[in-house]
Amino acid sequence: MKIKSVRAVYPNYKYTVPSWRTHLWQIVVRIETTTGQIGWGYGGGGKAAVEIVNGHFAEILMGKSFDSISDISDLWDFLYTASIPYGRKGVAIMALSGVDLALFDALGKAEMKPVANLLNGSTKDRMRCYATGPDTDYYAGLGFTAQKFPFQWQGDESEAAGVAVAEKARSVLGKDAEVMFDVYMTWDSEITLRMHEALKHVGIHWYEDILTPDDLEELGDLRTKIRPVNMAGGEHEFTAHGFVDIARTNAYDIWQPDITWCGGITAGLRIMDLAKLNNTEVVPHRGAEPWGLHLIAATECADFAEILPGVRGGDSDDLWIGAPEADDGYIRIKDEPGFAVKLNEDLL
Ligand SMILES: [Mg+2]
Repeated sequence: MKIKSVRAVYPNYKYTVPSWRTHLWQIVVRIETTTGQIGWGYGGGGKAAVEIVNGHFAEILMGKSFDSISDISDLWDFLYTASIPYGRKGVAIMALSGVDLALFDALGKAEMKPVANLLNGSTKDRMRCYATGPDTDYYAGLGFTAQKFPFQWQGDESEAAGVAVAEKARSVLGKDAEVMFDVYMTWDSEITLRMHEALKHVGIHWYEDILTPDDLEELGDLRTKIRPVNMAGGEHEFTAHGFVDIARTNAYDIWQPDITWCGGITAGLRIMDLAKLNNTEVVPHRGAEPWGLHLIAATECADFAEILPGVRGGDSDDLWIGAPEADDGYIRIKDEPGFAVKLNEDLL
C-alpha cells in the first residue's frame, strides 16, 4: 500500500494550561493509505514536532510504499537521514516516533493483526504493572504490587521524607513489592550515596534518572557503588545510536526508552537488539500505554509496564479510547488490529 496523506496535530488538551510543553508534549499523527487504512501514531515534541511532520516528513513520504515491518524500517532510515541536519535526537526523533507508530498501526490494520503479532507475536499473556505516583494506599487498593515515587530533591529535609514514603510503601505493598525512585536529574553522586545508605533497610529496586543524560561516565561509576540497587534511565535518549553511548559507559542496569519519543517501535526493536548484546534489561518508559505495551508483549523486554494511575478522583484527558487498563496490577494487549485504540476527536 502507498502513503496517501500524513498529518500531525497537537491535541487541544483540556486539563492543562494551553502550552505545547505540557502533557509530555504528545502529538498525534494520522497516516492514510491508498488502500483506505488509517494509522494513528503518538509522538512527542509538541508544536515543533507537528511542524516537522507536516512541513517535511509529510511531503517526502507521499506515495511511498510499505507492506512489511522491514519496509517501515527502511522508511524510518529515510526520514532519519533526511532530518540529520536538524535531527538525530530530541524533537525531530519525537516527530519520527509518531510517524513510525502510525505506520505500524496502519500495517496492523491492513493485515488484521495486533502490532505485537506483526513482530513475533505476544510472548506474555499478561504483564505486571508498576504505578508511578505518590499515593501508595490508592495504588494498593487497585491491586498494584510495585510503585515508583516521583521524588525531586528539595534540600536536606528530603532525606527523611524519602525514607518515610519508602517505608510506608514497603509496609503497605508487602515484602515482595518493588519500590522505586524517579529523581528526575535532581540528585548528585553525593546525595545518591547518602540516600542509598538511608534506604538500605527498605530495599529499593531502582533509582531512575539520577543525573542528566550528559553525565553517563559519572553514572557508570556511581552504578557500581549502589549495588544491588539498580540504576535506571534512558527516557531522554533517542534511537539505537544514542543507546550505543549508554552501553559503552555502562551507565544503567535498566534501559527505559520511551517508544513515543525514541523513534517508535522501529527504534525500540533496534534498542532491544543492542540491549541483548549488552545483557541489559529494558523497561520502556510509560510501558503500559499501547505503544510500549505491544513492544513489551512481543519482545524480551522485562515483564514490567509503567502506568500512571494519577491521584484518586483526578481528572484526565482521555485522548485514546479503548486503550487497555490494568486489572489488579496486570495488563493485557487487545487481540485487535494495530494498536487497537481510537482517537477521541473531541480533543482535536
Ligand atoms: Mg522517569
